[in-house]
Amino acid sequence: MAFGKDPSLIRRVGSFRESVHVSQSVRPQRSGGGGGARFTDRFQPSTIEPDRIRFIPGEYPYDRVNESGVLEPYMLEYFRFTEHFDGKTQGSTICSAGPYAGYPDKRDPCIGCDLFWENPRKGGRMSRRDMYSFTIFNYAVFHHMEQLDRKTGQVRISDRTKQPFMEWTQCKGRRCDMCAAGKESKKGHIQHYELGHGHFSQLSEYAEEVGKSCRNCRGRNVIEAIAYLCEGCKNAVIDMDDTTLNNADIKKMTHEAVVCPFCKYKGLLEEIITCQSCGDPKRADIFDVDIPFKRVQGEGNQTTLFFVGVEPVCPIDPIYAEVAKPLDLARLYVPTSIETQAEKFRTGVPVGQPAQRQPVTASQVTQPYSPPQAPQHPPPAPAPTPAPRSMFGR
Ligand SMILES: [Zn+2]
Ligand SMILES: [Zn+2]
Ligand SMILES: [Zn+2]
Ligand SMILES: [Zn+2]
Repeated sequence: MAFGKDPSLIRRVGSFRESVHVSQSVRPQRSGGGGGARFTDRFQPSTIEPDRIRFIPGEYPYDRVNESGVLEPYMLEYFRFTEHFDGKTQGSTICSAGPYAGYPDKRDPCIGCDLFWENPRKGGRMSRRDMYSFTIFNYAVFHHMEQLDRKTGQVRISDRTKQPFMEWTQCKGRRCDMCAAGKESKKGHIQHYELGHGHFSQLSEYAEEVGKSCRNCRGRNVIEAIAYLCEGCKNAVIDMDDTTLNNADIKKMTHEAVVCPFCKYKGLLEEIITCQSCGDPKRADIFDVDIPFKRVQGEGNQTTLFFVGVEPVCPIDPIYAEVAKPLDLARLYVPTSIETQAEKFRTGVPVGQPAQRQPVTASQVTQPYSPPQAPQHPPPAPAPTPAPRSMFGR
């Protein structure tokens, strides 16, 4: 394993609910080599007709900085990375600060972060955006097409073979020019799908609807929570039969770490569920259903995901099982090298040590921010509270 720790220590995240909780505080591990074709085979939900896709779970290791400032290895079904966008040069990069991105004195060199921390306020030059990437299988028809250069619109030709680069492009439906040109076609294609925090939250909400179905018996609206236990002492912190909490409080308490009133252990509560129609209840996940959805234009350039109901639980059609395999997303989102960052942000490569950083104050770390370019940006990774000694105390 890349992080050289005992694999048995790696905690596999059991459900989408748990993974959403965990991934709020994880950062991708450092990775070397690779890098690549982030802009090919990239899915973007239509704003016209709903697409029908299946999320394919992968196994992507992550290091999370725990409350004591120590790295904990995790495994998620999707990939997390942080994107920088420079309002001055319009350059964007993948953050190279590593899991300790939120710790100015511990993070790996990243010019994007250097510039971000120079002015982390709204309107600052550099933004920092948490991103989530999934492997998906798109059921649409695809055409085999010459790849076009994203900047010039010209067909890209391989220097080696002198032949055009080819790629699979989704059929445009009615009056599709690729259909008219008789291009080679196939049904279904594996792609990757990047979501910012806003769309990811909408997907999490949808996952709760999907989670009312049972993966075991495939019943719909049959799963119910009966209790939430403390992971430390196994006492029921919430007993659904006699709790005095209202729905809003229950939702809040079951989606974030809470302190157990019995043993003071702090963590996500463990859910106990029943199924109305079988004896082995399993909450269905977004990976267990086909999902028809599209984007709806909102205010400004914001869009919202619109999901067309919840489909029945079923495995992906076996005719696609061979191709519907998780992509190596760690290779697609390899952190941008310092040299490339220096080029994109026109800063020059910092000599020796990474560029001099201003000391970051506690108020800067915790203040909310929303950069101008991408209004969906979540706040930067929150500083652990209480802040570890190493953060401010030197
Ligand atoms: Zn960074
Ligand atoms: Zn077509
Ligand atoms: Zn407890
Ligand atoms: Zn069931």
